[in-house]
Amino acid sequence: MHSPNIPLLTWTAKGLYCAAGDFYIDPHRAVDVAVITHAHSDHARRGSKRYICVDKGVELLKTRIGKNIAVETFGYGESFPLGRARVSFHSAGHILGSAQVRVEVDGEVWVASGDYKRDRDPSCDPFEPVCCDTFITEATFGTPKFVWEKDLPHGAHIRAWWAENESAGKNSILFGYSLGKAQRILAELAPLAHKPVLIHDSIHELTECYRRQNRTMAQTRLVSEKLASLSPGEVLVGELILAPPSILRETWAVRFGEFQTAFASGWMQGSRRGYDRGFVMSDHADWNDLNRTIRETGARRVYVQHRDGALVRQLKRDGIAAFPIDDLHLDHFLPKSGENLVLI
Ligand SMILES: [Zn+2]
Ligand SMILES: [Zn+2]
Repeated sequence: MHSPNIPLLTWTAKGLYCAAGDFYIDPHRAVDVAVITHAHSDHARRGSKRYICVDKGVELLKTRIGKNIAVETFGYGESFPLGRARVSFHSAGHILGSAQVRVEVDGEVWVASGDYKRDRDPSCDPFEPVCCDTFITEATFGTPKFVWEKDLPHGAHIRAWWAENESAGKNSILFGYSLGKAQRILAELAPLAHKPVLIHDSIHELTECYRRQNRTMAQTRLVSEKLASLSPGEVLVGELILAPPSILRETWAVRFGEFQTAFASGWMQGSRRGYDRGFVMSDHADWNDLNRTIRETGARRVYVQHRDGALVRQLKRDGIAAFPIDDLHLDHFLPKSGENLVLI
């Protein structure tokens, strides 16, 4: 029997560990079995013997950490055994193939959220709330100041900004992370773009992974290729260039001609941080959606990752047992000396 006093998952030096199934979720180091929530580099690391992830996300994972990894895939909602645990993936709405991990042992259910959002995103499946006893939530934007309007027509806003700059003879350089944000923007622009969006090389291969999963992206062309096609002295005019921020340090950036810059991120809330324009477009849940999601899971115990102070206090006020992830150490659950404990 699983003892209710021993947590199904514990927070260890290598990351979130399930003793009943002998696997880690998004381990920080190389391990034998790594269950991966999604392909962002703070979740998917190289070196583990065996990986398990969602089928729709496997190409992104391989592009990021290596084509030759040993990896097994499952669809959303498909359950599989790992040791004494039953495990399944459920859509997290964060990027293509992103998942929450549901772990069940002897009728007790824990869910580790990974990164998630509730906002509409045409580049991936929507978030699926999953009932559980204990929920481990991310809280990148876990303070009340991070609240933004939902389901905005981001594509139309970006298209209007692009048109405005184009009519002033300028280019529009839009910065966003190369995995997830860039493809969300391309999906938003798919029905609106009047010519190909110029993309940086680092975005290209990842975007192709999305296309192969039948996600409709705006037409794209490599910015490097477009620049190579210009005659000497010619510069770009009226283009939308989608790139990571490092692009302005590259030597050929002088050929962009005149341009305006914008950044698409949840961090744009309240500040433009030196860009001409900011699009508040987050791939994480804001404060309201964190609170709503936690309540929808019905969890009676919650562990909070990343930014735990305000959210833990708020949940406690509402009568939910809430803790920072650091409290999920086995030491906190072991009986005091003199008691017997049989570890599962
Ligand atoms: Zn992420
Ligand atoms: Zn993350």
